[in-house]
Amino acid sequence: MIIDSSNVIIDVNNKNINRVIRKTKKILKLCDKNNYKLKFNYLENITDESKLFWIKNIEKAINIKDIKKRYSFIYDVVCSYIDDKYKKYNYCDFKDDICIFFRNNPNICHKNGCCYSDARGGLCKNLKNNSCKIKAISCKLYSCEYLRKNKVNFRMKYIPLIKYFFNIKQKYYIKYSFFKEKNYVLNKLLEK
Ligand code: SF4
Ligand code: SF4
Repeated sequence: MIIDSSNVIIDVNNKNINRVIRKTKKILKLCDKNNYKLKFNYLENITDESKLFWIKNIEKAINIKDIKKRYSFIYDVVCSYIDDKYKKYNYCDFKDDICIFFRNNPNICHKNGCCYSDARGGLCKNLKNNSCKIKAISCKLYSCEYLRKNKVNFRMKYIPLIKYFFNIKQKYYIKYSFFKEKNYVLNKLLEK
């Protein structure tokens, strides 16, 4: 690590990338305290695309000094990351509006997957034309029993932008603010 007057420069290669990611909290603290700009210096091509994705976004997030903007950035990156995975792997495998979990459970079968629930009074008001009109991070992080059994589980401890940037109370709001809009969650994250 090199620190000059206003920058922290950290060399990254395939061997140390995990270690560097694990140090995110320390780097974040150092940069925020001294208003340093962070620069990761890649010494070679990083072969693990997932690690490269996270480390680049860690660098971007640390360099956003306005906390609300930083949280907004993290929120958007995590939501798009999960959306992309669902699109790519078609986890819920909807057929005629019925997902795989409810197709496998004919006694409770209904349309619209977990966006519909008798216990919650029917169809979620945010669902319009088969698509969610808000960006609800807690809904995106949720995996039903079927998905969990099939190892689809976006646990916060495996998402570096959540794991290293938020405390326990903030993580609670990220996980349990079901059906809430982005601004609601951001305001909760900013509460002292
Ligand atoms: S998470 Fe499970 S219950 Fe919800 S839509 Fe997907 S497969 Fe269906
Ligand atoms: S807020 Fe959640 S439950 Fe409601 S439509 Fe969006 S994803 Fe579905």
